Amino acid sequence: MTERPKSERPKFVTPKGRPPARRKPAAAGADLFTGVRPPASPKTPYYDPGCTQCPRLAEFLTETHHAHPDYFARPVPSFGAAAPKILIVGLAPGMHGANRTGRPFTGDYAGVLLYETLHELGLATVPESVSADDGLELRHVRITNAVKCVPPENKPLPDEIRQCNAYLKSELAELKSVRVVFALGRIAHDGVLTAEGLKRSRFGFAHGAEHALDYKRVLVDSYHCSRYNTSTRVLTPEMFKKVMARACEIAGI
Ligand code: SF4
Repeated sequence: MTERPKSERPKFVTPKGRPPARRKPAAAGADLFTGVRPPASPKTPYYDPGCTQCPRLAEFLTETHHAHPDYFARPVPSFGAAAPKILIVGLAPGMHGANRTGRPFTGDYAGVLLYETLHELGLATVPESVSADDGLELRHVRITNAVKCVPPENKPLPDEIRQCNAYLKSELAELKSVRVVFALGRIAHDGVLTAEGLKRSRFGFAHGAEHALDYKRVLVDSYHCSRYNTSTRVLTPEMFKKVMARACEIAGI
């Protein structure tokens, strides 16, 4: 990602020892810090780069931007094919990954297994996602998150998950080409069900589980490809590749 010139960066006047003051909501679609709508991330029904609807997360983004002026530090847009057959849904941006680079699962360990697997299956042009401008392209696949702003300690609150669910709902409604919704972890699984207005009790989460959402779309579950899950072997590369390959089969890829 290209760093903005110093003259264009926002000025933070923060009295010593006090947290940064809460930012006023940006105009719809506008950048949180400059007030300008960023051309690379236009507002869509499922993404608003100026969203501040979760006060705790908006505050945290302000603090993050203050501590790391070179970080993306905004709601992270989804990434991938414009008319995907598979929509991968993660949890939320990682502090030093997607929140830093501006692309889901990019710049930290969480994306290592994901992009390697997508590349092995011919869904990504290269096996590694380094930055938002590294030239990587996805085929048939788009990646989004159930919560678009980085949460403190990687843990969004239930209210925040509910608030951001409106964007996921819009994304699912807009992307009419999707045949498989691929949930990474239980929170993403629950988020998809909520967005679809389906009862969670009827659709249990399990690695490799398949649930018909309607007559044309299937929800496929996987354990999240986090560092914890992969290092403890809760999720192995073989397990992940198998369930992703099955998603491709269902999607007709
Ligand atoms: S998490 Fe979602 S709803 Fe909450 S402020 Fe970020 S983009 Fe808005």
